[in-house]
Amino acid sequence: MKSKNNTAYCGIFCPDCIHYKNKYSVYAKSLKDHLTSIEFDKYAKIKSPFGEQFKKYEEFETVLTALAETECNQTCRTGGGCSGVPCKIMECCISKNYEGCWDCSEVDECDKFALLEPRCGEMPKNNIRKIKKNGIDKAMEKRGNFYIWQK
Ligand code: SF4
Ligand code: SF4
Repeated sequence: MKSKNNTAYCGIFCPDCIHYKNKYSVYAKSLKDHLTSIEFDKYAKIKSPFGEQFKKYEEFETVLTALAETECNQTCRTGGGCSGVPCKIMECCISKNYEGCWDCSEVDECDKFALLEPRCGEMPKNNIRKIKKNGIDKAMEKRGNFYIWQK
């Protein structure tokens, strides 16, 4: 049951996701609050001998806000999708009353996985193939790396 709750409809294992119960959002919120409290944005706009790089402060704030807001404390299955928003894969499974894509015979040709490929490569489909063969608990013990850059 633990594996099922942690495994999204698409075959990814949420606890391996970079956003899941992450620390960077906590640090980013704290840094953002501190910088706001000392009005660092105003400091960054003034020409000064310190920090040519502060000219890019607005871009930094955009990234800092994104870091602060991409915290995810629930898995896809328990939270209703990433940040509570169902994706096409989840909607498709629910419409067909599938527990996950492992109940489907069209995994190989399904194009709904394109949104995951730049970050996860073939991992979701490979996990689904493992679930089809070995069941969810055993498959998740031997799941693939979440991101394409992980060795
Ligand atoms: S629901 Fe989405 S964002 Fe949250 S941990 Fe799972 S894959 Fe990551
Ligand atoms: S068509 Fe099949 S493999 Fe594709 S998203 Fe729907 S259930 Fe998953």
